[in-house]
Amino acid sequence: AAHFQVLIIGGGAGGLSTAGSLLKRNRNLSIGVVEPSNEHFYQPGWTLVGGGVFQAAQTRRKEADVMPKDVVWVKQAAKLFRPDVREVVLTDGTVVSYDALVVATGITLNWDAIPGLAETLGKNGVTSNYRFDLAPYTWQLVQQLKNGTAIFTQPPMPIKCAGAPQKAVYLSCDAWKRRGVLDSISVEFDTATPGLFGVKDFVPPLMEYIKRYHVGLHTGSKLVEVDGPNRKAVFERKVGDNVERVERTFDMLHVVPPQSAPQVIRESALSGSDGFVEVNPATLQHVRFPDVFALGDVIGTSCAKTAAAVRVQAPVVATNVLAFLKHQGPVSEYEGYGACPLTVENGRIVLAEFSYGGKLAPTLPKWLLNGQKPTRLAWWLKKYIMPLMYWDGMLKGRELMVAPKPLNAKKGG
Ligand code: FAD
Repeated sequence: AAHFQVLIIGGGAGGLSTAGSLLKRNRNLSIGVVEPSNEHFYQPGWTLVGGGVFQAAQTRRKEADVMPKDVVWVKQAAKLFRPDVREVVLTDGTVVSYDALVVATGITLNWDAIPGLAETLGKNGVTSNYRFDLAPYTWQLVQQLKNGTAIFTQPPMPIKCAGAPQKAVYLSCDAWKRRGVLDSISVEFDTATPGLFGVKDFVPPLMEYIKRYHVGLHTGSKLVEVDGPNRKAVFERKVGDNVERVERTFDMLHVVPPQSAPQVIRESALSGSDGFVEVNPATLQHVRFPDVFALGDVIGTSCAKTAAAVRVQAPVVATNVLAFLKHQGPVSEYEGYGACPLTVENGRIVLAEFSYGGKLAPTLPKWLLNGQKPTRLAWWLKKYIMPLMYWDGMLKGRELMVAPKPLNAKKGG
């Protein structure tokens, strides 16, 4: 059976950034990356594909082209975790052992959780920016629509990039406004969350756009059924203490599916009560298995599930893994940084940056970029700089502006 000093599960944003950060510090580590997919996606780009700004092809690369040269790519999926004996069983039955494990499998999209949805995606006006192959259909529908009803949905938390469902609303409305058809289209945003956005400081600038585009906002409203051929969507809406069943017809329906921890994680000893990997929120070390670390969408901490969070988490995991291999306690800490560039119009973004507890955490000084205002600079960063930072920075272990913060002794392990 194969053995690695560091075994990484998942070759997405978190897995590859951690591999890069580890190799930057020690070229001679033996690292295995377990990843079944032939393709790697820059998912933050899908909002711009759905908004007609990026081509889908810009968001996809061959996994082989982004996998670091100095790791062993194990082209399998993890099927069973045995943290008590430091082993992972793969789908082909192979057993791989490790000194330290890094879990970065991401979050699972549950398309089948809404009856009628899976079979109508990509037709009957039903689309989602949460899938590479469907984001171009969003833009196609936006371009075709001249009048009627467009409905956008957001499921209960947790989801990855909690701002992405409303980004689709704004970019679609902006395109309709520019074409002069927005007044003929009735736009509705149904979110299962109690408010428009989880960090209250960013709600006022977003509400401005809800008003500007005349969007009918329904909080506490959950999509529960779709009938594509008859273009009907059914919602359960909270009204006071009651839940009402509301049926709406649509010409366009943009759906964000309910999400959960991957089954293989939920059913493992690594998960906490919410199904996600139970790590110390500061050190990202597992609370029961000190040789296990995790990052990205699969961790059960309160940070935002974003690539922006992964960028800051990867060096923390890398330095803490290296310390562990030297029989030391964790040395770095993560303060919960996450970011959500809310594309309120084509050309302007409200760049929400925050850490644990919804504390504001701007990267740039306020005179240069005010995160509570829509700015052209943030759009420019999203369109030109962030993809570069992802492909050529993060994935290669180049830690731009994210030197891992030394651990405050009080919070450790
Ligand atoms: P992923 O990048 O999803 O990678 C997980 C990897 O694990 C995949 O390659 C998968 O194949 C692999 N895997 C799964 N199961 C197994 C298994 N059992 N064994 C082995 N491998 C496995 N973030 C931002 O920062 N800004 C944004 O503007 C933004 N917008 C977004 C818009 C959309 C529409 C979406 C969908 C996401 C957006 N995100 C954004 C979120 C961002 O893409 C994720 O937070 C980020 O990709 C998380 O990285 P990860 O490594 O945890 O998961």
